[in-house]
Amino acid sequence: MYLTHLECPRCGKDHPADRPQNLCDCGSPLLARYDLAAVARAVTPEQFPLRPADLWRYREVLPVADPRRVTTLGEGWTPLLRTPSYGAEIGIPDLLVKDEGLIPTGSFKARGAAVGISRARELGVERIAMPTNGNAGAAWATYAARAGMGATIVMPLDAPTICRRECVAAGADLRLVDGLISDAGKRVAELVADSDGAIFDAGTLREPYRLEGKKTMGYEIVEQLGWQVPDVIIYPTGGGVGLIGIHKALQELRELGWVEDKLPRLVAVQSTGCAPIVRAFAAGEDRAQPWADAHTVAFGITVPAPLGDELILNALRASAGTAVAVDDEEILTDLRDFAGREGLLLCPEGAACLTAARQLRAGGWIRAGERVVVLNTGAGLKYPETVDVSAVPVLA
Ligand SMILES: *Cc1c(COP(=O)(O)O)cnc(C)c1O
Ligand SMILES: [Zn+2]
Repeated sequence: MYLTHLECPRCGKDHPADRPQNLCDCGSPLLARYDLAAVARAVTPEQFPLRPADLWRYREVLPVADPRRVTTLGEGWTPLLRTPSYGAEIGIPDLLVKDEGLIPTGSFKARGAAVGISRARELGVERIAMPTNGNAGAAWATYAARAGMGATIVMPLDAPTICRRECVAAGADLRLVDGLISDAGKRVAELVADSDGAIFDAGTLREPYRLEGKKTMGYEIVEQLGWQVPDVIIYPTGGGVGLIGIHKALQELRELGWVEDKLPRLVAVQSTGCAPIVRAFAAGEDRAQPWADAHTVAFGITVPAPLGDELILNALRASAGTAVAVDDEEILTDLRDFAGREGLLLCPEGAACLTAARQLRAGGWIRAGERVVVLNTGAGLKYPETVDVSAVPVLA
């Protein structure tokens, strides 16, 4: 294993990686660091096509020492689809959609769960707990079951029923709160504090390895494009783990010498009903203020106070990217329009990225001929209510 230590991006303090860790003393999330010079000596890009079609093909830059500790359901290596018809319509002929809807549990949260659970198990954790908007809880409950670990999941009453069912099916200890993910977070903090060390807090960015799982989206995009980076990557941002992860992957890839210096411009997409990052980005601030009365059809990005705000804003600025808020009505229109043209039912979070792409192209921020990658972070099938079927005729 090439993992060396954990580093605090805020105060610079190093922490050991050989025991379960949460935040730095200064309150910041920690980032996993590897001996990348040794990785570059051990493996070259030419070797990857010979490896299994899942995220563990990047094992040298993942934090599991013993391959027998890997808990997997075959997650990763999702298709990067060309979308010529829809792309031409919005003026981006080179528009690609990475379809995370094909992943186990129906969302890219499985990437974070597979790596996070594998490492937690390796470090001796027996029970994890987390607040969730639904998909993360479903994924972590699923992988915890497969690893033989306990999972305590707290989610808002409004979260999709399917995620609730997945948690129950996986035997998790599921609790519901009449509130938002931030309220669920308070309950998890109490449970962890009262557990006397028996429960490990695996909430978003509170442990460092979910990020490592999600960063593999960045490695995959680059490998799938023949070790080239696209011009723009558009990501539906809630807690921002995927965006921070893709940014981290690109920095690692550059350090490994596997891509050139050019970085793609990263775009954080939020809903006008919950846009703390967009507001902070526009105001030129380093931290985001909590969003009041958050609500959107794209429940996966309803995060009023993301813990990784600094890291998200830094990734956007360092890549010359931007942040865009789009409204629910347009998300649903683009979701339908895309399905009709390309035959793929996106999740609303993925459709929000199309709305952003369309608007950024119309405004000239995305230029003619640029290659744009959109992340469809989940399966449209998990959100059956996004398509209205009330007007479908019944034959006599
Ligand atoms: C969780 C989630 C997001 C947001 O992911 P972050 O990495 O927390 O920003 C986007 N889409 C879907 C479908 C999700 O479940
Ligand atoms: Zn620190």
